[in-house]
Amino acid sequence: MSQKIFENVAILGLGLIGSSLAHGLRDKGLASRVVGYDASEDVRARAEKLAFCDEIAATPEDSVKDADLVVLSMPVGATGEAAKSIAGALKPGVIVTDVGGVKSAVITKVEAALPEEIAFVPGHPIAGTEHSGPEAGFGSLFEGRWAILTPSDRTTDAALQKISDLWHALGSDVETMTPEHHDLVLATTSHLPHLIAFNIVGTAADMEEVTRSEVIKFSAGGFRDFTRIAASDPVMWRDIFLNNKEAVLEMLGRFSEDLAAVQRMIRWEDGDALQDLFTRTRAIRRGIIEAGQETEAPDFGRRAAQSEKGGAKSES
Ligand code: NAP
Repeated sequence: MSQKIFENVAILGLGLIGSSLAHGLRDKGLASRVVGYDASEDVRARAEKLAFCDEIAATPEDSVKDADLVVLSMPVGATGEAAKSIAGALKPGVIVTDVGGVKSAVITKVEAALPEEIAFVPGHPIAGTEHSGPEAGFGSLFEGRWAILTPSDRTTDAALQKISDLWHALGSDVETMTPEHHDLVLATTSHLPHLIAFNIVGTAADMEEVTRSEVIKFSAGGFRDFTRIAASDPVMWRDIFLNNKEAVLEMLGRFSEDLAAVQRMIRWEDGDALQDLFTRTRAIRRGIIEAGQETEAPDFGRRAAQSEKGGAKSES
């Protein structure tokens, strides 16, 4: 068991990430008390039953009134409104953090809502699965993963240190960068791949000459892996694209140019160019495995991971 870092923690948004945080805090003894709140009454009732929090509050204000740490863990499009709803109920000295997959837009919205004297530490754990909801959470989700912190004008050194300590205690490595850089990096490594997956699965579903049952029956490895990513939460991903528009459009432009180049390679039967490209991409995968961010096990170790709980990693 690690050392306690906070007394009272409030987690708003009890889906995959919020519930995993609650489990992790409890499993590792990092807080004396965790109060949860979710906008959905049904989720609050399910969270109450699952009992990963000490208390489920009926309102956002109630959930934060004693908190020395508040974690905003809802889809990024709802974060500004959530911050507004708790602004008047926060205790002096509280630290507010978030876990959203987009940083610049969230910082603007949250800081407009919170009183100036409240310390805010924008954060994003690079850990997740394609599952959502309070049942999907598990305490080891963040182990061996990265947590990115993107300090803003409202981030004090002391608050940054405490949130960094928290992620370390949950088993993550921590990296600090600007919000703009985070949004560009994630547009490349997460948002664009998700967009491609949503699109390719949509294309297959719309093909009239191939029946839906054939798509499912003959879904060889490549397509099946896209369907896993394309099964991610629709609301969360809608909000990510709407809130990281500039960086995603920039990456999409580059992607379209590169796709046109591959199209040309195939049209002109330029096998050497194709082979060169695939050799470079294979090396990138090897690098990811060597860095411990993926497993070399057959089927990406997915069956083993699923039996542990939670399925394959699909972090935003
Ligand atoms: P999730 O499983 O869909 O859970 C989000 C929960 O937040 C839902 O129960 C939702 O209720 C609730 N909610 C919405 N607005 C709220 C509000 N104003 N106050 C309190 N609760 C509210 O989503 P998640 O995967 O945990 O994602 C949460 C955040 O983590 C997102 O910002 C996402 O970008 C970030 N993140 C996700 C991953 C991932 O892989 N999933 C990884 C890293 C970071 P309703 O269903 O009623 O709307």
